[in-house]
Amino acid sequence: MKTRQPAQAPSGPALSAQIVALYQQTVATSLRQSPLVATTPAAFAAWQRQARARLRRILGELPTVRRDLAVARQVVEEHSDYIRERLVYTTRPGLQATAYLLTPRRLTGRVPAVLCLHGHGVGGKDEAIDPASIYRGFGRRFAAAGLVALCPDQIGFGERALPDGKVNYQVLVHGLNMLGQTLIGWRYWDLVRALDLLQSLPTVQADRIGVMGLSLGGEMTLFLSGLQARVRAACVCGYLTSHRSTFLDRPHCTCGHLRDLARHFEHVDLAALIAPRPLFLDAGRQDESFPVAEARRLVRQLRPVYQLHDCPASWLGLEVHDGGHEIAGTRSIPWMIDRLRDEGH
Ligand SMILES: [Zn+2]
Repeated sequence: MKTRQPAQAPSGPALSAQIVALYQQTVATSLRQSPLVATTPAAFAAWQRQARARLRRILGELPTVRRDLAVARQVVEEHSDYIRERLVYTTRPGLQATAYLLTPRRLTGRVPAVLCLHGHGVGGKDEAIDPASIYRGFGRRFAAAGLVALCPDQIGFGERALPDGKVNYQVLVHGLNMLGQTLIGWRYWDLVRALDLLQSLPTVQADRIGVMGLSLGGEMTLFLSGLQARVRAACVCGYLTSHRSTFLDRPHCTCGHLRDLARHFEHVDLAALIAPRPLFLDAGRQDESFPVAEARRLVRQLRPVYQLHDCPASWLGLEVHDGGHEIAGTRSIPWMIDRLRDEGH
């Protein structure tokens, strides 16, 4: 009877490498089991219905009723072009959100509006309106151009940071997962209510609302626009690439790690939930966490969906800029303004 030589047994480094190899094999075999179907408009619509239902389940349990927003408003800045107010509103029983609302001064009627979403950062909405920040002050840019802009604080940032205590950010992320809910789902619901708020304003054209965001804000733009057909145009900055090149390939904040998300969908499939409504990507060459080659590939993969629906070429766009994890805004901000004002759409 032969016995194995102990000397041939693999050592620590080889055993560790097995774990990584098995993980990579799992990524290759488990990823994207519900890819977009775009053979005909009817087949695409059927895929979208199923994919939206699946994505809603992935976001976890959400409130089913929309109560009064109970909006409190306070003017905090009288700019020459617009008025900036701080808003506090109720998104669900026991939870209030904060936001800046920027309203152009010289309004002659209702105007389009943009929901402007910040990413990770203690500044929250204050960063989103700071021209010197990675957001290029996009909220102010839209207001100066004559549009209404709503810039909310997402849960965990700005005025909605967590208090010092046992329930820190990671406890919130993982605790909710253990309970069948998700922090991304909580944020999603807040933004559903932000759309309700914008649509309730007498200054806003309720059918001309766009969403734009960077990083986590880009991810939330993707989910919100994909699931809410009332979003007319979406601009995702510093995010849309692929799961394979981002969360599956390197360490990242875990708040976006939704159970089963990558098993069913790649980024391109989530982007296809917005199609054929207008979609623009703003991507930086120096953004190592979200490689531009993947953003370009996504646009190439998604183009046939827009062609299938005979959309103008401008409805799917990409700005690759020389910066890093930031909004360039050179083309993306004017693109959003054009799409929301476009009479042909
Ligand atoms: Zn996060």
